[in-house]
Amino acid sequence: MPASRRNARNARICPVTQASFAGSYAIGACIVDASGQVPARGRNRLSDPRGAHGGVIGGHDLAHAEINALLNLPATPRPECYGWTVLTTVEPCPQCAGAVRMSGIRALEYAAPDPWAGCARLLTDDPYVRRKEIRVGRAPTDVQRLATRLALVSFLDEGHDTPDSMVFRAYQAVTPDDVQAALAVHTAGHLPALRAAGASLAAALDLLNI
Ligand SMILES: [Zn+2]
Repeated sequence: MPASRRNARNARICPVTQASFAGSYAIGACIVDASGQVPARGRNRLSDPRGAHGGVIGGHDLAHAEINALLNLPATPRPECYGWTVLTTVEPCPQCAGAVRMSGIRALEYAAPDPWAGCARLLTDDPYVRRKEIRVGRAPTDVQRLATRLALVSFLDEGHDTPDSMVFRAYQAVTPDDVQAALAVHTAGHLPALRAAGASLAAALDLLNI
């Protein structure tokens, strides 16, 4: 893997922690161009004040990380954008998978699988969507674990889910270790404490046993 792409992978951690520290779900995304540069970033902003500011949306059901990364792009020139990639920390939902398709970008890589709302299969299974031949890739295993645990902790911390919800039961069925780690961090109140302290990413990684 080129160094530029590795740097881009690392860069996507930033929107995730920003989302969590801002009180939204810990999900982030970015766009990587063919040279490995990152022209746009986005994060989940469901819990932000409602509105559209600075090229992103907040406080809206559609304010997902991938949508905000795509909205944050200054342009999607053809054919250049055909060589760009959307990187996201959690498998995109139907809305975001559809948005990737409609954006002109033809590659997606995601970290955490989402057994509840994930719909990456839309990009390869739907007859209309697969005509664009969008490539779907995955992140390394440790990045998948980090993304899964951060997202699950934020679901609990923000009151979106409970450990016995259908969402958590779906995760429990495919990735029980991550569910247990997330429950422990949530119960201890670690992420709000890190947020209040302005702690480093390294400290968060330690707490999440990554
Ligand atoms: Zn989405």
